[in-house]
Amino acid sequence: MYDFVYTSQSSKVIFGAGTLARVEEEVHALGAQKSLILCTPEQEGQALEVSHLLGPLSAGVFAEAKMHVPIETARRARDHARSVGADCAVAIGGGSTIGLGKAIALESGLPIIAIPTTYAGSEMTPIYGLTEAGLKRTGRDLRVLPKTVIYDPMLSLSLPLALSFVSGLNAIAHAAEGLYARDGNPVMSLMAEDGIRALAAGMRGIRDAPESLSARSDCLYGAWMCGSVLGHVGMALHHKLCHTLGGSFNLPHAETHAVVLPHALAYNSAAAPEAMLRIARALGRESAALGVFDLGRDLGIPSGLRDIGMQESDLDRACEIALSNPYWNPRPIESEPLRSLLQDAWIGREPRE
Ligand code: NAD
Repeated sequence: MYDFVYTSQSSKVIFGAGTLARVEEEVHALGAQKSLILCTPEQEGQALEVSHLLGPLSAGVFAEAKMHVPIETARRARDHARSVGADCAVAIGGGSTIGLGKAIALESGLPIIAIPTTYAGSEMTPIYGLTEAGLKRTGRDLRVLPKTVIYDPMLSLSLPLALSFVSGLNAIAHAAEGLYARDGNPVMSLMAEDGIRALAAGMRGIRDAPESLSARSDCLYGAWMCGSVLGHVGMALHHKLCHTLGGSFNLPHAETHAVVLPHALAYNSAAAPEAMLRIARALGRESAALGVFDLGRDLGIPSGLRDIGMQESDLDRACEIALSNPYWNPRPIESEPLRSLLQDAWIGREPRE
């Protein structure tokens, strides 16, 4: 029997190869006159192309975006946006660059046009993160939700395969947990299942043919679907664990997601059978946890936490931290099974349901 609350969040989504060319039209549509273009130092070439397309509507390029949005970078970007009289921010890049746009919007309310070039999905969420004195603070605020998103798969052709796969699995993690979210709803479940299907097919496609525009397009479409899920519903055990491991043990964000997800799904398997059925169906497999594990293996992603810098001697402390701050999960979080989940994830063995 249906029982849910669904609040839609509005943003304009433009999808297709070559749609970057529409950026000027979209700045006009927002009524903006001066757009500051944001990127990482590595993507300055793509940002300059946007600046060229914008002509007199460009307020120049700010190429200092960094992982986890350090507060100092956010302050510099806000000051710069003010000093050039920007009335719009165009963020071209992955979650780090879009995160910088969000940091500006949070304070100034400047509209953001996001042009994602990875599959992480930040462009579809009102979630922001800022790092100060080594601590990452996150929050939700509708002001940071990009007004317009341009998905042009041509731009992700240059994304290295390893980064493509970890950001894709990061996106699959959002959709998988969205399927058993406490505040889930049928619309998000449809998007989650289709997003997992598209990303799994697209990632296998680019593994075989990295230049395939149609496989890149599948991945980007999946990123849109999975990012939307993250933007609309709450997350559970898997995200909590990744936050703990990333924050306290300095493990790489996307790789940690890729390693932990099969084990978190195995942990929740019996408590969320409908979600598991949908994940497994999206992957064309019998088991959700094994399906995700095998997808990671097929893509050559590290399978164990030990392969990405975690010490076995830190597993007890990781378990304690994850238990110390209670949160909702379809299956209660208990010490012994959680510790054995971590052990399995550390070794990189097949998940045990
Ligand atoms: P990223 O933005 O950190 O990018 C990683 C590197 O890849 C950068 O050097 C970037 O310049 C480069 N790159 C990106 N696209 C490229 C392309 N097409 N060609 C060549 N190089 C390219 O990576 P990410 O995985 O997209 O984002 C991770 C960050 O996003 C994390 O900090 C995570 O917390 C955050 N995130 C936030 C949300 C949210 O809703 N707020 C959602 C997902 C991720």
